[in-house]
Amino acid sequence: MPYTADPDFESFVRDLPKTETHLHMEGACPYELLKQMDPVKYANPPAFWADDFRYESFDQFMVWYGEYCAAFFNSAQRYHEAMKIVLGNCVDQGCRYVETSFHLPVLLGMEDSGPTLIDAVRSAAPEGLELRIFAGMCHDDYKDAGLELIEECLTWEGLDGIDLHGPEYIPLESWTADIWQRARDAGKYTKAHAGEFMGADFVDLVIDEIGAERIQHGVRSVEKDETVQRLVKENIALDVCPISNLKLAVEGVTTMSVHPIRKLFDAGVKVTINSDDPFFFGNRLSEEYYALNQDLGFSKKELTQIAGNGFDIALVDEGARQKLKDELAGYCADRIDS
Ligand SMILES: [Zn+2]
Repeated sequence: MPYTADPDFESFVRDLPKTETHLHMEGACPYELLKQMDPVKYANPPAFWADDFRYESFDQFMVWYGEYCAAFFNSAQRYHEAMKIVLGNCVDQGCRYVETSFHLPVLLGMEDSGPTLIDAVRSAAPEGLELRIFAGMCHDDYKDAGLELIEECLTWEGLDGIDLHGPEYIPLESWTADIWQRARDAGKYTKAHAGEFMGADFVDLVIDEIGAERIQHGVRSVEKDETVQRLVKENIALDVCPISNLKLAVEGVTTMSVHPIRKLFDAGVKVTINSDDPFFFGNRLSEEYYALNQDLGFSKKELTQIAGNGFDIALVDEGARQKLKDELAGYCADRIDS
């Protein structure tokens, strides 16, 4: 684990009511389940858990995803088993609300349907946890059977939203704007990954062209003042994953101490912190909080504001939001000297 904290800070972070809004199911695969599946192949912890490990590229990350996790996710039952552990961990770390996505085209290789997968994941959530389920798709997935699946997912009642992910450098295709609009018309929330491997212009593009309501990562928005200002003005939040950015060597993130989240936060952008693909980064959500405190000077009060941002953007009704925010305010009154 790259980050540890003293017992006081550790308990402050653990008990802080918080959210996780950028979590890929497949990238969160619990190691113990992989070991059960194939004790020989997974005998040793993967090299990418080392603190100083850096991926050479996003392509390398995807190759290793294929090697390590793809074989596991072959049924709705497997998703259920994995998410039972993952969501249990979220609750242990103080999460009250979680948004998590599965890679939609995985269904093409499975006998189970999308609604069955969604039910299996939903039934894995511990009682009391608010869970929202997203389907993620790549820029070039709208073809052949993938096209039908994308059209179909807009009708799945249990699906809360859609997310654009995968390599950012693949050009945005014209189907995306239409699907993102129709998803919103069908009551789904729309996100997009941007500003991780492409710059601020791509963040602008997914907002302007497909109307993404929230950005996953978005850290390279910092490269352009106008983009930062519009995020503030239009109240578009960024679900940031600092340790993921460091290990994937995102441009501008050479060390945690220069991570753009400090500038974005100070400029008034609504940011949350999240773990992204914890299996591939060896991180826990609590470590994201330690990292911001230790390397970027975020105080307990500022971290509380970040946790509160998660409740601001949560897809819940106003009564539920107020309850969550009241709980957080009560916690801060008890735990933070002002
Ligand atoms: Zn992501």
